[in-house]
Amino acid sequence: MSYLTHLECSLCDKRYAADDLHTLCPDCNRPLLARYDLAAARVGWDRDSLATREPTLWRYREVLPVRDEGRAIKLGEGYTPLLHARRFGGAMGLPHLYIKDESLNPTGSFKARGLCMAISRAWELGVEEVVIPSAGNAAGAMAAYAARAGLRAHVFMPADVPQPFRMECQALGADVTLVEGLITDCGREAQKGVERHGWFPMSTLKEPYRLEGKKTMGYELAEQFHWQLPDVVIYPTGGGTGLIGMWKAFAELSELGWIDDRRPRMVAVQAEGCAPIPRAFHAGDEFAAPWQGAHTIAAGLRVPSAVGDFLMLRALRESHGTGVAVSDAALVAAQMRMASLEGVFACPEGGATLAALEKLLAEGWVSPQERILLFNTGTGLKYPGVFPA
Ligand SMILES: *Cc1c(COP(=O)(O)O)cnc(C)c1O
Repeated sequence: MSYLTHLECSLCDKRYAADDLHTLCPDCNRPLLARYDLAAARVGWDRDSLATREPTLWRYREVLPVRDEGRAIKLGEGYTPLLHARRFGGAMGLPHLYIKDESLNPTGSFKARGLCMAISRAWELGVEEVVIPSAGNAAGAMAAYAARAGLRAHVFMPADVPQPFRMECQALGADVTLVEGLITDCGREAQKGVERHGWFPMSTLKEPYRLEGKKTMGYELAEQFHWQLPDVVIYPTGGGTGLIGMWKAFAELSELGWIDDRRPRMVAVQAEGCAPIPRAFHAGDEFAAPWQGAHTIAAGLRVPSAVGDFLMLRALRESHGTGVAVSDAALVAAQMRMASLEGVFACPEGGATLAALEKLLAEGWVSPQERILLFNTGTGLKYPGVFPA
């Protein structure tokens, strides 16, 4: 049973009915957030009930938006392993270093969490065709859940997307269009489909429910760390749903009375060739200016401007976190180290978190006794071109 009550604009606080289809706030064009009756949930839902639930993100269904269990599209998403990184942690002098390995999600990345929720909820609310601009993983995840729900999926990808991503979407039955340019250009093409054909848009934060799927990472961290969140969370940031979602989850968990007020310091990692969030963070800006000439091999981080920029910056500031940019060479080297030293063949984005940690350690921003969590957001297998020859 879901405690969903309404949607609320993240910028102007205006409220909307939860069971109507919504995209951005029509007044200010910023993301809508799902709100729940957490006071009732606090009384009616005990965290001990989790012990007997299925090991997927649906174990948190009370704070997820899908009302009818029969509309929950499941492929085994979420509840990924929390790994203690003894070998490279030990080598770096960090006894409490962990990896949340999201590569075990359906379609090999944490995008499954968000698209699982967005597709389930869209299906519940009567949508038949969906569209997404994506640099890779989001498209594959959307295609998979759309296939399972029986929705028609339209995907716009940059023409230089690694071949496995395109292959996956086509195999999953999506209608794939390659676009010359960046993810923002794909976004423009997808928008035409919305206007001309009435397709429902699944872009990052342009509908309210991908965030709800992604926030389950925050619930899992709390549960897997036995309700004592780690000191530092290092997250490879593109559109920012994971970062914003976890921050939302921590607030909800606190309202549920399941955790205390201590929060991790949140770190947004981007690539030096596209780092609008670290730049805006260090400049003290509320919004992030678009990044010109974005380039990095870590496609998930190649997001020159994000509609949730101010929410990411807020989470970084409220948590006393920071933003870090790392070079492509450093993130690929770190990706290979994560693979050979811990058995996790990370995606380049996952490697970026380790590269950022090395920087933060050298600067003294993290101290060796802290509990530090790296997010490996996907599998390295989809990026054949990255592997050093
Ligand atoms: C999309 C993606 C990211 C960025 O995630 P956001 O939550 O949109 O910031 C990071 N890593 C991988 C592998 C991705 O696919």
